[in-house]
Amino acid sequence: MDHSRSARTIVIGGGPAGLMAAEVIARAGRRVAIFDQAASPARKFLLAGRGGLNLTHSDPPDHFLKRYGAAAHHLASAIEAFPPEALRDWCAALGEPTFVGTSGRIFPKSFKSSPLLRAWLRRLATLGVELRPRCRFLGFGEASNPILDGPQGRLDESADAIVLACGGASWPRLGSDGAWVEGLQRVGVETTPLQPANCGLEVGWSAPFKERFAGTPLKSIAMSFDGARVRGEAVVTATGLEGGAVYALSAPLREAINAHGEALLEIDLKPDIAIDALTRRLEQPRGAQSFATFLRKAVGLAPIAIALLREAGPPPSDAAALAQRIKHAGVRLTAVAPIARAISSAGGVAWSELDDNFMLRRLPGVFAAGEMLDWEAPTGGYLLQACFATGAAAGRGALKWLER
Ligand SMILES: Cc1cc2nc3c(=O)[nH]c(=O)nc-3n(C[C@H](O)[C@H](O)[C@H](O)COP(=O)(O)OP(=O)(O)OC[C@H]3O[C@@H](n4cnc5c(N)ncnc54)[C@H](O)[C@@H]3O)c2cc1C
Repeated sequence: MDHSRSARTIVIGGGPAGLMAAEVIARAGRRVAIFDQAASPARKFLLAGRGGLNLTHSDPPDHFLKRYGAAAHHLASAIEAFPPEALRDWCAALGEPTFVGTSGRIFPKSFKSSPLLRAWLRRLATLGVELRPRCRFLGFGEASNPILDGPQGRLDESADAIVLACGGASWPRLGSDGAWVEGLQRVGVETTPLQPANCGLEVGWSAPFKERFAGTPLKSIAMSFDGARVRGEAVVTATGLEGGAVYALSAPLREAINAHGEALLEIDLKPDIAIDALTRRLEQPRGAQSFATFLRKAVGLAPIAIALLREAGPPPSDAAALAQRIKHAGVRLTAVAPIARAISSAGGVAWSELDDNFMLRRLPGVFAAGEMLDWEAPTGGYLLQACFATGAAAGRGALKWLER
């Protein structure tokens, strides 16, 4: 009997990274079983579909890689081997063609993940991939066999290769709870702490401000921190700020809050008007108008923007100083919002633990992929692209291992 053909691979975690690893391995004619602690696979991927499913981005390759910051060189080979074009072709082959949106982001034409996931699971079933829901990975036992708890208790599973793709720790109720960290640490695998990424930030708003404005968007603003400036939108919540512009700056803000206990975010409430022009408008006589009416009429500030100016103390009456406050409204951030509501997580399996094939050096034959690795990236499709690409790379790594 050809032993290599009967070899069995276990994939733990049925999100985009694990499903992709399973596909690569099964396409080579190998036996694969996917174990997932949730009742059904890829729940976070389905949630991502509610926001339109931004699959990847049309950035040129060198720009694209820069989005992964310090982890870029670790991810380069995986993304070069499975770049955005390959992901688009793969989607089209599953009956979900994609398009490039005005922002350069790439979406399926259906803007949904459910038809893509359905077609993908059908394909995996055709390839013979076995799906084992409600099976929780707890760590490694003797001979590096995975410890798995199924609906009827402890499972006795062995494998010739294992791919771990357990995700990060955001939205734990969808299955990715980061509990795998303990299981890996027990066998000496180094991990960096899982932290919120692309997340909200907390602000100690005054009671009247949060009562009136929680849930209200701050539209057409720019936010700056530490030399980085982002145009976009944010939403005021009872506990702070959420939304695209906030997420884009959340990594450096999180690091500053970790280091100093707080961070000062600057908001430009009128990013399309230069400070001199704004000052001239504010020099107009106010007459009998209230301060708020004057600001609304002279510079078109929305009530939430005017209230935000007041949150930092009484606004100055001098036109130049007021223009300065409008262009650089300071918001003191006191904490990062909990990871349970973050889009993604930073941290995970340290790169020093992985070889070039995404295999854990300490556990030969065990591979890791997706958000459980130590990288982070902004929203824009970079998250899913890296999950698919590292899933494919870990799958190729497992095949090499089986063929050794
Ligand atoms: C609201 C929201 C919107 C998003 N939108 C986008 C977007 O538009 N574009 C984008 O690029 N990214 C988006 N993301 C991020 C993206 O969904 C994730 O980065 C991606 O799903 C991670 O893939 P993964 O396979 O590594 O892990 P996951 O998708 O988290 O899958 C991990 C799987 O492992 C299972 N698992 C975990 N621990 C265990 C265990 N101990 N035992 C057994 N099974 C386990 C889980 O049940 C889960 O099924 C979004 C995320 C959220 C929360």
